[in-house]
Amino acid sequence: MRLFESIIDANHRAVAGDASAGLHPAEFADALPVVALTCVDPRLNAYFPNALALPAEDFIWLRNAGNIITSTLSSTMRSLALSCAVKGGREIAVIGHTDCQICKTPTMALLDKLKALGVDRSRLPENINDFFGTFGSERQNVIKACDLIRNSPLIGPKIPVHGLLLDLETGRLDWLVNGYETIQTHLASGLPGNVALPKACDPMESLGAFKDFALGEMKFPEMKIGEVATRVGEAVTQEAAKLEAKIGQQIVPAAESVQNVAGQMVQYAEQHWPKPPPIHVKPSPLPPLKKSPPPPPIRPRPDLRRH
Ligand SMILES: [Zn+2]
Repeated sequence: MRLFESIIDANHRAVAGDASAGLHPAEFADALPVVALTCVDPRLNAYFPNALALPAEDFIWLRNAGNIITSTLSSTMRSLALSCAVKGGREIAVIGHTDCQICKTPTMALLDKLKALGVDRSRLPENINDFFGTFGSERQNVIKACDLIRNSPLIGPKIPVHGLLLDLETGRLDWLVNGYETIQTHLASGLPGNVALPKACDPMESLGAFKDFALGEMKFPEMKIGEVATRVGEAVTQEAAKLEAKIGQQIVPAAESVQNVAGQMVQYAEQHWPKPPPIHVKPSPLPPLKKSPPPPPIRPRPDLRRH
């Protein structure tokens, strides 16, 4: 099973009461980190990333009111693109949720709420729904967002774009868009849009991750064997190509020897890397709200000046 298939499977088993349901993120190193777009609803704070059984460092979390994408070049789309290109995101998931208030607030009610905040109707764009991207169906909103992302020229054609819906009461995740399937359809159709692409990953940034590799002490960055290997390989190949172009000579043997060293390091790492325990899914319903303890009394600040 691929990453999100395993996530959904573990989630469903956990919701059904299987306390052992979980995920070994290290097995999916090539698909991590994931970039998730969710709503700003604070009720989601209790669910992520544990409902996906992912460690926090593999979960790039983007939020906006209603997990809305308004166009293939919108501000949120740019953040998604940068999350992939700069932060190394490998898969994208738009995760809507049930009982979304953005969905449940009719246009007139929204205008009233804005008015109560001193926002005058005359200063707002004519088509409020288009402008804010408000929607009437949480499911349709996620499907539309996935469609816009899939067709954005800012997103690489090989990055799966999934659509999920989280049930706020049970923590259950349901597929709305299986990004592994749409990626095949999209590539096969040869649709325009994903032609001019940003580089998947900057080579120097890739080597930055490699800096944590302390050979003498054999310290490895956590759970990133495949990723480090791939990125080092890619970076070496790209840098070699640049150098070749500069000096007009073949430097493949040198690049190959570096790749061999990287390969040996990875082989060693794979043999000695301790296998971490699985991360368990915790999709339990929201915990009861606790009353915050009262803050400590504010004491007058002593005057430290001495006369
Ligand atoms: Zn919401």
